[in-house]
Amino acid sequence: MSTDTGAIARQRHYTSLRNADREILRATWSIGYGDPGFSTHLGTPPEPSTRHTATSIHKIVTDALWLHRGACLACSWEGPDRRRRDIAIEDAHDHTHPGWRNLPIFDRAGSGKGSKVWWAHVRATYPQGWFDAGGPLRLYAEPPFDRHAVGAAPGGGFVLHTPRRKRQASSSMQLALEDGGLAE
Ligand SMILES: [Zn+2]
Repeated sequence: MSTDTGAIARQRHYTSLRNADREILRATWSIGYGDPGFSTHLGTPPEPSTRHTATSIHKIVTDALWLHRGACLACSWEGPDRRRRDIAIEDAHDHTHPGWRNLPIFDRAGSGKGSKVWWAHVRATYPQGWFDAGGPLRLYAEPPFDRHAVGAAPGGGFVLHTPRRKRQASSSMQLALEDGGLAE
């Protein structure tokens, strides 16, 4: 049993278990479905990245209990156990791109001419070189599209979604306006 940590070491071990029982595979840490470096146990493990790159690993304890950890494709770092993959992905960005939590959160870009202006504004607002370094882009979540999205930032980093606050207050205000104004 391998005890090496880090996404690469975990995935190398996982993909060495070609003939293992399903229960063993489920209980073995491997890169999360669709996250950077992912493959099935029959796939090829990823090569180490030249820069710290966020991903997640998971294992299944029971059907109701999946554990996730943030992990990195360049080193042996792993985050704490989490019940949700998105929280683990955020831990991973604390490792790969410290300071990301202080960056501004944008609304999703519209289509058409406005999106060019929107991108220019986002690039000008984020630190210089941030996206070229694989940095994440922060957007407000628009359910059901609120899962952190692999490769959706301009340099191939994640889009990290944040729930909008006080949405109810602003939509009830909107309803009041549409009903003909704030009567009371
Ligand atoms: Zn790392």
